[in-house]
Amino acid sequence: MTTVLESIDRAAQDRLYVGGEWVDAADGGRFETLHPANGEVLAEVAEGGAADIDRAVAAARAAFEDPKWRRMDAADRGAVLWRMADIMASRFDALARLETLDNGKPIREAQIDVRQSIDALRYYAGWTTKLHGATIPVRGNLFNYTLREPVGVVGAIIPWNFPLLMAVWKVAPALACGNTVVLKPAEQTPLSALELAAIAAEAGVPAGALNVVPGFGETAGAALVAHPDVDKIAFTGSTAVGRMIMREAAGTLKKISLELGGKSPNIVLADADIDAAARGAFAGIFYNTGQCCTAGSRLLVHESVKERLLSALVDRASKMQPGDPLDPKTRLGPLISQEQLDRVLGYIEKGRSEGAKLVTGGERAEWNNGFWLRPTVFDDVQPTHVIAQEEIFGPVLSVLSFSDEDEAIAVANRSIYGLAAGVWTRDVKKAHRFARELQAGTVWINTYHPGDAASPFGGYKQSGFGRELGEYSLDLYTQIKSVWVDLG
Ligand code: NAP
Ligand code: MG
Repeated sequence: MTTVLESIDRAAQDRLYVGGEWVDAADGGRFETLHPANGEVLAEVAEGGAADIDRAVAAARAAFEDPKWRRMDAADRGAVLWRMADIMASRFDALARLETLDNGKPIREAQIDVRQSIDALRYYAGWTTKLHGATIPVRGNLFNYTLREPVGVVGAIIPWNFPLLMAVWKVAPALACGNTVVLKPAEQTPLSALELAAIAAEAGVPAGALNVVPGFGETAGAALVAHPDVDKIAFTGSTAVGRMIMREAAGTLKKISLELGGKSPNIVLADADIDAAARGAFAGIFYNTGQCCTAGSRLLVHESVKERLLSALVDRASKMQPGDPLDPKTRLGPLISQEQLDRVLGYIEKGRSEGAKLVTGGERAEWNNGFWLRPTVFDDVQPTHVIAQEEIFGPVLSVLSFSDEDEAIAVANRSIYGLAAGVWTRDVKKAHRFARELQAGTVWINTYHPGDAASPFGGYKQSGFGRELGEYSLDLYTQIKSVWVDLG
């Protein structure tokens, strides 16, 4: 089929990547992936099911046992990952375009994703030679040391909001630690994960060490979670599916790590630099069209500065216009799907009926039949409102005001989630006090959203557990063996 993909420099991969080969699904199934900006079909991709997951897990197991991977010198494994980064850098533009086409995000944002993916590959390439054990002073004439070993076959399940980056956040540390991987990308965005498989093959990742099986959560995803020969599931997605995975993993006692949803508070104190806070509040909620697990979706503002802050924010938000996401000038992207658009519109309706005050947006934006929504801001939101409690995962901001800083902390922490938080203040003592008091895996002070491959990322409370990135991710993909030697 001829597709929009011809606009990238070569045809995108559209089959499963299993055991080092591009294959059709066992039952021949295929599914469509759309360009969210105009709703047109971008490509048809092989749809993996339980039988394909079986095949991929068998290939991953064989690769894990194979000395080619198992006994590869750590430095050589690092070199392979570094080559993946080099190849990714050499295809930078094509990959960013592919991501923009499949996900709909503005090309500028896709470029940031590719850049961060390259960074993460290089960061974990460096770790392969630093996975030390310890020598431990024990009682008796005995020598005790530890080995840090891979966990085995890793099943990685990821969402559609940062398709390439989420794949790399799991694949890079998993491979660096010597595991093998079966990756199931989100049904809405399978293309860059397949491209990652192609890059891995070219870089010298042995057949079977990385397998990519696009398909649906209820079939391919569930089969991966239930599979007795998968040692670990690394999941990023909704809290609802995270709960199901945790229950299901009990059957085989798999190790799991979960990166889930959020309802992150972004708090502006009375003494903040209001222009900077307005920019931060704007980026906090509207970056990636609000489809960020860390979105600063609850803006808590001191009542004395609320009017000023809101007017700057609304001014910016109301100027955002839909446009071709491939155009570098475009700042607003569409939502991922009609389903997501309907979900978000449902929350907007809810906000209205709960008595929150709609200040801007609240309706669809028209552009080539895509899934567009105007950036939306609700004022006068109460902590008990549904739009202050539930993750909307779209460009909808709930503004709450406070008069007392302790009250702000209490409201900020009154959530089942704890992924991230922001605080804006010129007072260094207050900044650090908030950083300590806020129940969140990440706290940003006078900024919002920066991240780095070297810095840990993950959730408190029902935002999940396990830390990705940094050296912390190595704990997710290794296990410790204690070795005893009699010296008597
Ligand atoms: P989702 O429905 O939970 O899907 C995430 C992944 O899980 C997809 O690959 C999905 O497959 C798969 N899946 C669905 N049901 C499954 C099942 N029964 N067994 C195994 N896998 C299953 O989430 P989403 O709607 O794609 O993404 C949005 C959510 O992800 C938001 O709630 C957001 O907060 C969260 N998120 C969290 C982080 C983080 O780092 N904490 C990052 C990004 C997103 P399908 O594609 O077929 O549904
Ligand atoms: Mg889904």
